[in-house]
Amino acid sequence: MFTLPQLPYAYDALEPYIDALTMEIHYTKHHQGYVDNLNAALKDFSELQKKSITDLMLELEVLPESIRVAVRNQGGGHYNHTFFWSLLAPAVKTERAISHYATCARLINQRFGSFQKFQQEFTQVAKSRFGSGWAWLVVSPHGDLEIISTPNQDCPLMFECVPLLGLDVWEHAYYLKYQNKRVDYIQAWWHLINWAAVEDIVKQIV
Ligand code: MN
Repeated sequence: MFTLPQLPYAYDALEPYIDALTMEIHYTKHHQGYVDNLNAALKDFSELQKKSITDLMLELEVLPESIRVAVRNQGGGHYNHTFFWSLLAPAVKTERAISHYATCARLINQRFGSFQKFQQEFTQVAKSRFGSGWAWLVVSPHGDLEIISTPNQDCPLMFECVPLLGLDVWEHAYYLKYQNKRVDYIQAWWHLINWAAVEDIVKQIV
């Protein structure tokens, strides 16, 4: 059965950019809900319970039809949030800029022209996602860096993309502190990116 991954920092560690109450509710209620609902969907499928969440997301199309939508939504929620938490870090630890992470910085500069242009394009995509969903920096099936957006809890693996960075733009991720100001939340998030972790992923796949 699936369980919540341990958060690598305290609920208040991302203040003032993401507030402690939002973190606690997001993790203990929203993410826990996806885990519980995924387990409920898989309760009669013991062989699927043994798979990793990554494998489940990669195999959506061959899952039994009766649980496919539930695994897509709840499993996607579990996969996306687990990934999201792992790519955040307290701002004091993220002071080392992207430029310190050579592979990541080189690929972003090659693809987008500059880090600033990458930020602008990513922010635009995240801002423009209508309703609930995510913005991602991914490696596409062609091996290129791309910025994409997914609705609801759809995850990049469904599109044969490997995620490098993901931003939750569901209102539950920011409404308590930022209300309708999604752009302010996106701007705040840039302070919290764990570039060392992104660099680790990049080095495994390029
Ligand atoms: Mn969320």
